[in-house]
Amino acid sequence: MSLPFDGFEISGEPLDIRALAASLTDRTAGALASFEGWVRDHNDGRQVDGLDYEIFAPLALAEGAAILDEARQKYKVNAIRAIHRHGMLAIGDCAVWVGVVSAHRDEAFRACRYVIDEVKHRLPIWKKEHYRDGTAEWVNCQHPGTGQEDHAHGDGHSHGHDPAPAFAESDFYARQIRLPEVGEAGQVKLKAARVLIVGAGGLGSPAGLMLAAAGVGTIGIAEFDTLEASNLHRQVLYAAADVGQPKVEMAAKRLKALNPFIDVKIHAAKADAANLPGLFGQYDLVLDCTDNFTTKYLLADAAVLYGVPVVQASIHRFEGQLLTIDPASDGGCLRCLWPAPPPEGLIGNCAEVGVLGVTPGLFGTLQASEALKIILGLPGILNRHLLIMDALSLETRRIARRRDADCPLCGANPTIHALAKPETAAFELDAAALSPQALARYRIVDLREADERSEHPLPQAFHAPFSRFDAANPAFDASRPVLLVCAAGRRSQSAAQQLRAQGWNDVFSLIGGAKSLAHLFHQAAE
Ligand SMILES: [Zn+2]
Repeated sequence: MSLPFDGFEISGEPLDIRALAASLTDRTAGALASFEGWVRDHNDGRQVDGLDYEIFAPLALAEGAAILDEARQKYKVNAIRAIHRHGMLAIGDCAVWVGVVSAHRDEAFRACRYVIDEVKHRLPIWKKEHYRDGTAEWVNCQHPGTGQEDHAHGDGHSHGHDPAPAFAESDFYARQIRLPEVGEAGQVKLKAARVLIVGAGGLGSPAGLMLAAAGVGTIGIAEFDTLEASNLHRQVLYAAADVGQPKVEMAAKRLKALNPFIDVKIHAAKADAANLPGLFGQYDLVLDCTDNFTTKYLLADAAVLYGVPVVQASIHRFEGQLLTIDPASDGGCLRCLWPAPPPEGLIGNCAEVGVLGVTPGLFGTLQASEALKIILGLPGILNRHLLIMDALSLETRRIARRRDADCPLCGANPTIHALAKPETAAFELDAAALSPQALARYRIVDLREADERSEHPLPQAFHAPFSRFDAANPAFDASRPVLLVCAAGRRSQSAAQQLRAQGWNDVFSLIGGAKSLAHLFHQAAE
């Protein structure tokens, strides 16, 4: 149901905040999140006593409506109203108001935040500050390009909003074109290349930046997660202000800002057996920047099954490994080295064992280097070796690889002919299928380490860190059904398997980890 006041407006009259909020009253909604932007009395050390807003109305109304549409698509909201003033405003006046009603406060807050951020960045609005000393100045005119013509302002203030940078594309690549191994022809190859980055985290961040800067013409990013504060020390694609936002969108925005001459495609999904065949069909090369064995084996298998090279990197503490699976070479695949993945939980991930940001930084950069060598046809591609490097000692080892005749995937008599479909074991519970009442029946056991728990706190959970977990002698008993929770659902899966092997029947693992329970607590609170 759409409400009478749902949309973007420009107003020459003072805003009546109370009436605006009342216009969004909705008996089916649990939350109204609103934002008020006020005119303040100083800016950049100067005393301000008024503001003049000039708005290019036809474009602002269209762009405002588009922003609200985007917010409606991204978030579950009942209605959104946003209104921007134009004309003269006094100190303390409300210049912009955004209100969002939704069944859930989290969606309302996020949609409100999205609308105000986009309005600030995208709307063709100019601000003239009037200072107490009697002078006035236009400020904040650096809008990103919206493609409109240059336009003059009343006092002769004029500027363009051209989306294209003020230099030619060839200037961007001048230093690498100078290399005879690249040259104009190599730059054309880079422009034509299509590279998919799976996982926009610690490895995918430097890899994406380097490939975008080198001019890889089409970069795809497959990522499903939202940015958390603890990602920032190694995921250098993002800014602190991006926390809580979908990584894939922030990553695409950053890469496009770095290089406006390339195309960045978004795949907002977890890579799995269902979507990988379609994804591999769209790209010439794939970088595996994921952090779990299930996905690594899926990508490695897809390399051979669909004939697309995959550059893989893995990090453990200060050590990293790199290999290129090239179906055209005789260096073999991941299963030639290790026929099956290790059990989940055996080797800790970044959240459990910790990592310095430079370690994935190094290896993500090496992945980009491999990609450029493959695209440009340069020698030294790591398709017959596995590289192991320790970032502390700086010792590297290159281990020769050969196709194994007994490999289940690329050997003489392969037994793997398709990507493994994800199986949900009977002991794995999906948070989407749990109600608050169902959840209350379980003893929730939080397996995360102490320093991980603030990210998505579970105050009602019993804390039993996985680093000290012993299935033969757990810190909790079986007097109630147990729901094991960790950060992503891998440690809890491992612990549930181990406890079931010890004879526990009523023990379950939560798919997706603590964050997947967030919606249940919102429901309970509202
Ligand atoms: Zn193989």
